[in-house]
Amino acid sequence: MTASHAELRQFPVQDDCLLLGGITLTRLAERVGQTPFYAYERNHIQSRVALLRETLPPGLHLHYAIKANPMPALVQMMAPLVDGFDVASAGELRTALDTGMAPAGISFAGPGKRNSELRSAVAAGVVLHLESEDEMERVARIGELLGITPRVAVRVNPEFELKQAGMKMAGGARQFGVDAARVPAMLRKLGRLELDFQGFHLFCGAQNLSAKAICEAQRLCIELGLRLSEYAPAPVRMLNIGGGFGVPYFPGEKALDLPAVAAGLHEVAATLAAASPQTRLVLELGRYLVAEGGVYVCRVLERKLSHGQVFVITDGGLHHHLAASGNFGQVIRKNYPVAIGNRMLASPREVATVVGPLCTPLDMLADSMELARAEPGDYVVVFQSGAYGLSASPTAFLGHPPPLEVLV
Ligand SMILES: *Cc1c(COP(=O)(O)O)cnc(C)c1O
Repeated sequence: MTASHAELRQFPVQDDCLLLGGITLTRLAERVGQTPFYAYERNHIQSRVALLRETLPPGLHLHYAIKANPMPALVQMMAPLVDGFDVASAGELRTALDTGMAPAGISFAGPGKRNSELRSAVAAGVVLHLESEDEMERVARIGELLGITPRVAVRVNPEFELKQAGMKMAGGARQFGVDAARVPAMLRKLGRLELDFQGFHLFCGAQNLSAKAICEAQRLCIELGLRLSEYAPAPVRMLNIGGGFGVPYFPGEKALDLPAVAAGLHEVAATLAAASPQTRLVLELGRYLVAEGGVYVCRVLERKLSHGQVFVITDGGLHHHLAASGNFGQVIRKNYPVAIGNRMLASPREVATVVGPLCTPLDMLADSMELARAEPGDYVVVFQSGAYGLSASPTAFLGHPPPLEVLV
C-alpha cells in the first residue's frame, strides 16, 4: 500500500461541491467567468495568522514573505495582520508600499540587487538586507547621493544548514548572505559608513516539516546572532531568524507540529530577551501563511483512454502551476492533492492521470491518482496552491491564456 495524502479539511463540501469562501465551486467558477483560476480564501489565511499569534511568543514579530504569493489584494489583506513584509525585488517593494505598511517594517533581501532597486529602497526608507560587502558600499554611496541614511541589516550565511529542509538556503558555499566568518570584518567597515545598522538576517531554508530541525536551526541562529552582535557597530535592534515552516504537499507528509515549534521559539525568545533585551525577534513566513488557503481550478476538456489508462485532459497545467506538475524543485515527481471539485463525495471513483493542454509529457497535474470519475465540464482542483503557484509558473510557455486570481 502506498502512502496517501494527509486528509484536507480546510474547505467544507456542500451539494457534492467544494465550498470556497462559502461559495460553491460551480458558482464561483461562474463568478470568475473563466477557467483556469486560482482562488485564495481570506478566512483560511486570517485564521492561520490568528493561530500563529496565539501560539508563538507574544513579542515576536511576524513578517509575510511576499514572494510566496504577491497578488496585490492578498498582500493588502495581509498588511494589518502582520508586523512587516519581506520583499525580494523592486516590484514586490512597490506592492508592499502600496498597502501602507510602514517602511521600517519592510525588509528587502536577495542577491544581485540593482542600483535602481537600491535607490528605490533607500528612498522608501525600508531595511536593506545586505548580501555582500559590495552591496553595502553601493548602498552607502546611494545614501550619500540622496542625503538619506539607509537602514541596513546584514544577511548572514551561517556555517550550519537547516536539516530536512525541502530547499536549503544556507550552510557552505551560497549566493545568499555573507559568510559568517567574514561578518566581523564587514561590520567594522559598516561602522565607518553612514548607515543605520538594524541587525542580522539568517534564513536557512524553506519547506521544513520537522519541528525538531526548525527548533535546532532557530537555537543556532540566536547563538550566532548573539555572537556576531559583539562586533556590531550599534545595538542590535532586530534579529530575523527566517522561518521555513513547511506545509504537507505529498503522500506520506504530515502537517508541521506547530506547538513543538512554538515551544522551541518560546525558549529562544527568552534566551534573546535575557541576553539582548533591545533586540526584536522576527520570523518571516511565506507558504505557511498562504499555501493551504489556496486552490488552482481548471476544467476537464476531454477523457481519453490509452493502453487501458484513463487520461483526464484539462484546460490548465504546468504553464499555470509549475509546482504541481513536479517541475519546481522536485527531484522525483509526486502528486499534489487533487480532487474533482464538483464530485467531492458521491461519484464512482477510478484511477486517472490528469494532464494539461501542453505538448510536453511534463504537463501533468496528477499521475495515476484515485479520483471521482470526471466528465468534460467538471472541475479539477489542485489543493495547497496558495503559494508559489501563478507567480512561479511559465505562463508564456505555449501561448495559452493566463489564469485569473481571486480572493474569496
Ligand atoms: C523565500 C523566502 C522566504 C519564504 O519562504 P517560505 O518557504 O515561503 O516560507 C522567507 N525569507 C526569505 C529570505 C526567502 O528567500
